[in-house]
Amino acid sequence: MLQSWLKIAENSDFPIQNLPYGIFSIADKKPRVGVAIGDFILDLKKTAKYGFFKDLKIDTAVFGAKYLNDFIALGKPTWHKVRQRLTELLKEGNSPLKLYAEKVLIPMSEATMHLPVKIGDYTDFYSSIEHATNVGSMFRDPQNALLPNWRHLPVAYHGRASSIVISGTKIHRPSGQSKPAHSEVPIFQPSHSLDFELEVAFIVGKDNELGKKISTENAENHIFGLVLFNDWSARDIQAWEYVPLGPFLAKNFASAISPWVVTMEALEPFRCASPQQEPEVLPYLQYEGDKTFDIKLEVAIKPQNAEEKTVCQSNFKYLYWNMSQQLAHHTINGCNMQVGDMCASGTISGATPDSYGSMLELTWRGTQPLEMNDGSTRKFIEDYDTVIMRGFCQKDGLRIGFGEVCNKVLPTKTD
Ligand code: MN
Repeated sequence: MLQSWLKIAENSDFPIQNLPYGIFSIADKKPRVGVAIGDFILDLKKTAKYGFFKDLKIDTAVFGAKYLNDFIALGKPTWHKVRQRLTELLKEGNSPLKLYAEKVLIPMSEATMHLPVKIGDYTDFYSSIEHATNVGSMFRDPQNALLPNWRHLPVAYHGRASSIVISGTKIHRPSGQSKPAHSEVPIFQPSHSLDFELEVAFIVGKDNELGKKISTENAENHIFGLVLFNDWSARDIQAWEYVPLGPFLAKNFASAISPWVVTMEALEPFRCASPQQEPEVLPYLQYEGDKTFDIKLEVAIKPQNAEEKTVCQSNFKYLYWNMSQQLAHHTINGCNMQVGDMCASGTISGATPDSYGSMLELTWRGTQPLEMNDGSTRKFIEDYDTVIMRGFCQKDGLRIGFGEVCNKVLPTKTD
């Protein structure tokens, strides 16, 4: 297997086969493009400055930008060329980059990570059949948990891009309207049921013109890469507000993403089949070949003064609707997607209770609290808890990781 001349721990998320992109800054320097390798970040702006991309004939100004959008917009052949060059520079042997190692490699511990893309629009799908069934059972009727459209189209809503934040951002408990069962009228208060949603989001890598659809066959050419996504949710606010137009203030106070965008090329060895769909879907949603990836996902909760506890283990491959179908459906009416748009999967739950991707499901609406390592229990997320999501692909000694998305919850803001 390919190795780097840099020493990389065996269980690192970022071996030479990964090379995910992010935006970082150090000290008083401006944010710029970097690639994760082991415990380091390769500064692409400086790598370009020393001429290592010169013969590739690309506009290297994109590496000095504070978002990846300009780089992504250069297109898939460029993503491939840059990845190949980075592989050459970082693989073991006589790499000319070694002479510049001190200048171009920054310890991750010294860097601050920023949002990797300027997100134009954000869509949240609802593509896990286990999640949709669990929620439908709790809020409606276990016999008719899935609404009639669910198996025929990937249900989604348009979310809000401005409140998508980078891992590490502290989240204030939102306040809002809710209507407790015992109350005749709605009340205004801090959410009593703050929840996470374990999701993965893809970043659109190529525009489609208004009026022009993207086929399932071509969809992956329009995807740059994937990040972990925590779609923070306030269940009490959601239950009261969501009829008839869907989620609003229960969702748009914050969603958080992991800082490193793992590319489709890095994920390729982990391509696998999606679940069989029944009944057969309409022709524009049909596809050939394997269209999803085996990405292990987990969620841990860390109370203020205790060790973290893993509360969920799930997998991206459980999703009923794959990304190609999501993108084909999103554009079948001619909706134009743009570079930097983000599409989240929806909560990714598996078949077993330990694979449910939200507290709503894990505690079955608070009726079965989870025990933490300090003996305390949780129905939902409490103030000063930290929620950590991790994701990685692993087989035959190769690990392609996403790092983590991690947020601490603070009390509601009073001013
Ligand atoms: Mn969601």
